[in-house]
Amino acid sequence: MAKTIQAIRGMNDCLPEVSGIWQQVESTLRSVVASYGYQEIRTPVVESTDLFKRSIGEVTDIVEKEMYTFEDRNGDSLTLRPEGTASCVRAGNEHGLLYNQHQRLWYMGPMFRHERPQKGRYRQFHQFGVEAYGLDGPDIDLEVILLSARLWKAFGIADHVKLQINSLGSNEARQAYREALIEFLTARADQLDEDSRRRMETNPLRVLDSKNPEVQAALEGAPSLIDHLDSESEQHFSQLCERLSQAGIEYEINPRLVRGLDYYNRTVFEWVTDSLGSQGTVCAGGRYDGLVEQLGGKSTPAVGFAMGMERLVLLLTTLNAEEQGTSSADIFVTALGEDAASYAVTVAEQVRDTVAGARVMMHCGGGNLKKQLKRADKTGARVALLLGSDEAQNQQVTIKPLRDGQEQSTVALASLETAVAPFID
Ligand code: ATP
Ligand code: MG
Repeated sequence: MAKTIQAIRGMNDCLPEVSGIWQQVESTLRSVVASYGYQEIRTPVVESTDLFKRSIGEVTDIVEKEMYTFEDRNGDSLTLRPEGTASCVRAGNEHGLLYNQHQRLWYMGPMFRHERPQKGRYRQFHQFGVEAYGLDGPDIDLEVILLSARLWKAFGIADHVKLQINSLGSNEARQAYREALIEFLTARADQLDEDSRRRMETNPLRVLDSKNPEVQAALEGAPSLIDHLDSESEQHFSQLCERLSQAGIEYEINPRLVRGLDYYNRTVFEWVTDSLGSQGTVCAGGRYDGLVEQLGGKSTPAVGFAMGMERLVLLLTTLNAEEQGTSSADIFVTALGEDAASYAVTVAEQVRDTVAGARVMMHCGGGNLKKQLKRADKTGARVALLLGSDEAQNQQVTIKPLRDGQEQSTVALASLETAVAPFID
């Protein structure tokens, strides 16, 4: 026998048993963003490697060790996108969507990072994100946070996620903080791991984002970004906090929240949960006012977030908040005998034409009625249409409810629409 081929480690198949949940999640996401006037943008999954190096930052986990980078046949260095924001900005610049305009965009799709696969962490995963361009006040920061909060409500998990926020201040203010942090870290270098010791020199803020509990312990008493904010960032942050409270959004200020990508300034936030072990960040974002210009566009303020969809789906299934849609049909159509076969197809097509939203599955492959009804039961259908030569001759349909013990009945084909309507959600 030939050797079977398996999927790439850390890259998952989405099988029918869970694809229903994914579809529900996607449709809820679409309707919530639409309710805030955001429009979809779709960008390629492959971009120039430079795009990510210049945006995410050379000294970050993603660029240092997680990117799927390869040379294409022309010798150009390409990378499977590890996140969506850089591509949005690249596309926005390229097509003139950003400068002097207000843009509210959203995207959804696969991202690629070569990390160690574990629960909630994969090599191909999916993000849903929003990005708002051209607005620099705390009102738009509030809007994207409100939008994310509405998502949790829509999914029924608002009680299981908590909002953490922080401000990174301006680039200049962060320089002053950097000095203070380096001094603090240097004094404790022996308590840091190798990664953190290296970053202490190149990108000390990254040390605050370390996942290593020992490093986190060594950071006890580290100088706080919030104490080093420039006055404009401070005002921006305090206004945001005030408006969050007015809007009834609970939050916690986490002075060590810095995010793993270099492009952020001022507001950063994460939604975290206790229900997924160490992969607890479901959604993360912030302001990135410098990125558009850094990637060659004209200076344009920006704010957004990205949500890990696998973590959301895991959370929903863990909490069982989402009904698991296992049925594949509402109506199952059986046919007995040659003359009923083509009649059955006509009936099935008529239901699809006339009953909105009906999922109609046709029995294929023949067999006796018992076998066909067994199939019907397996699909989860609520009703079976039994079609034999009598029905075909008289242009009738026998309706057999499958779930609630109701009697079967025979109706004229003309009144089929009304007869099956109660079986459709
Ligand atoms: P983490 O701290 O968990 O590594 P990150 O800071 O690298 O996350 P971002 O780049 O901000 O994450 O991505 C936003 C969200 O995408 C994360 O909060 C998480 O929900 C999700 N995410 C990131 N990496 C992965 C992955 N490898 N597999 C699944 N989801 C992921
Ligand atoms: Mg990461």
